[in-house]
Amino acid sequence: MEKYWEYIKKTLLDLLAIPSPSGYTDRANAYISGQLQDLGVSFHVTNKGAIVATISGANDDSQRTISAHIDTLGAMVKEIKSNGMLKLTNIGGLGWANVEGENCIIITSSGAEYTGTLLLNKASAHVHGSETATAERKADTMQVRLDEKVKSAEDTRKLGIEVGDFVAFAPRTAVTPSGFIKSRHLDDKAGVAIMLGVIKAIVAEKVQLPYTTNFFFSHFEEVGHGASAGIPAATKELLCIDMGAPGEGQQSDEFSVSICAKDSSGPYSRALKEKLVKLCQEHDIPYQVDIYPFYGSDASASLRAGCDFITGLIGPGVDASHSYERTHKDSIMATANLTWRYVLSQ
Ligand SMILES: [Zn+2]
Repeated sequence: MEKYWEYIKKTLLDLLAIPSPSGYTDRANAYISGQLQDLGVSFHVTNKGAIVATISGANDDSQRTISAHIDTLGAMVKEIKSNGMLKLTNIGGLGWANVEGENCIIITSSGAEYTGTLLLNKASAHVHGSETATAERKADTMQVRLDEKVKSAEDTRKLGIEVGDFVAFAPRTAVTPSGFIKSRHLDDKAGVAIMLGVIKAIVAEKVQLPYTTNFFFSHFEEVGHGASAGIPAATKELLCIDMGAPGEGQQSDEFSVSICAKDSSGPYSRALKEKLVKLCQEHDIPYQVDIYPFYGSDASASLRAGCDFITGLIGPGVDASHSYERTHKDSIMATANLTWRYVLSQ
């Protein structure tokens, strides 16, 4: 997969620049559709709006599906305050402390965009003293400072901003010479870029897949129901590509592919996990088996919805997940290589 790194990297940077909080993934989906069209891969869109690309293989009865999610954490306007500022409600597991001081865009129902910054209501230490440092960071104590001359709710409404508008936080993407990628929303745009990279490789290398393989671009994962509908019915195995979570007590790192044995929803398929480990060993792919006690994936969502297939979960190790995240090229490529070996495996 090494020769597809440039494509994966460009795709990842493109995706990171497109706002896509759960519920507002239209632009990201348009980008993905465009990539699939360029690659000449057929796809359909589910009633809920997920993109499902399919590449035929020798066995069409037992199919595989690989998924990654394009939606991210974000927020929505909950209230327009009397001072013209915006109170937010979070989308997904967004932690308020993780976005304090972050720039954001507000996308109105007409598609207009305004910029602002999420700050503590009592943000100035020169005005509020020690309260600025000690105040709890939560929806009620924080607001968006709009970059507009507004003094009242009426002023803000005149701009076309209303309750229910989506808010997306700046990704602050940076690529370092040492191979790290720092950004919000690497979860799971790295997974989506890897999936598109593998699709590109399948097309370019003109390989015959042993099984028909579907690629499911989930768009409601962060709110828990992404893959609960729309996985093709002939699927016997679902492999989710989502981040691994390094940290204290974890085996995952930013230089290997993480293989999840168990998360908050319980154990993943033992057979599929063993197969993924074996593929890594056979092909010298750096890997780490790990357990994520506070994690749920689209695999869990699909099983809870009643799907009858086995599931696996792999992904690049993403440090400081759901905060200002970071991973390394090595981890992305290890995940791409394992996915590549998986689609070719019997
Ligand atoms: Zn994720």
